[in-house]
Amino acid sequence: MVELIPSQDTVMQILQRTGAFREGHFIYPSGRHSPHYFQMPLAFRFYDTARVLAVALSRKFRLEKDISSQLPKVSVISPSSGGIPVAFGVRDALNAEQIYWAEQEHGERQFRQYVNQGEVNPCIIVDDIIRSGNAIEETVTLVKSLGARIIGCGTIVRFKSAPEEIEGVPIKSLVNFDARMYDDGNKCVDCKEGTQPEHVRY
Ligand SMILES: [Zn+2]
Repeated sequence: MVELIPSQDTVMQILQRTGAFREGHFIYPSGRHSPHYFQMPLAFRFYDTARVLAVALSRKFRLEKDISSQLPKVSVISPSSGGIPVAFGVRDALNAEQIYWAEQEHGERQFRQYVNQGEVNPCIIVDDIIRSGNAIEETVTLVKSLGARIIGCGTIVRFKSAPEEIEGVPIKSLVNFDARMYDDGNKCVDCKEGTQPEHVRY
């Protein structure tokens, strides 16, 4: 059976249709300006869309021998709340045994108390979007501190400025996005054109 993975264009159309990808003139909390903005939960609020995206990502993992040979004894791990629907969808498609998600608490990325007790299977880390890669790197540290091995990493959207691999494991993505960012308004093309900016949260 041939399993098709939707093209980057198809995935971008889904993100645009659901409002998860927006074009305009945006100012991030960092003060940086950008002509585009991703708010991924807008795509994951629709069950059918969430399923299509998660299944597509899971197919990329299934192609990896190191992953497929270890299923179902695999953990799917999300670095934050945004990745939870991705993690559940990927887990479902792969029939992986475990699922974990980390959260930022007191400035540190961690699992809820007692959650990590017992054996943690070899891990696939998944997220909805990887911008800088910081969240993934912190999650790798967390997972390694539990003595678990990282066998996969993936995201729906990866900014091209983010790392391509982590701990020797390539980061799989459905979309590799060339994000345009301006450090401030002086360099911003849209500011020069005088369009009204919109302030966005992460
Ligand atoms: Zn601007």
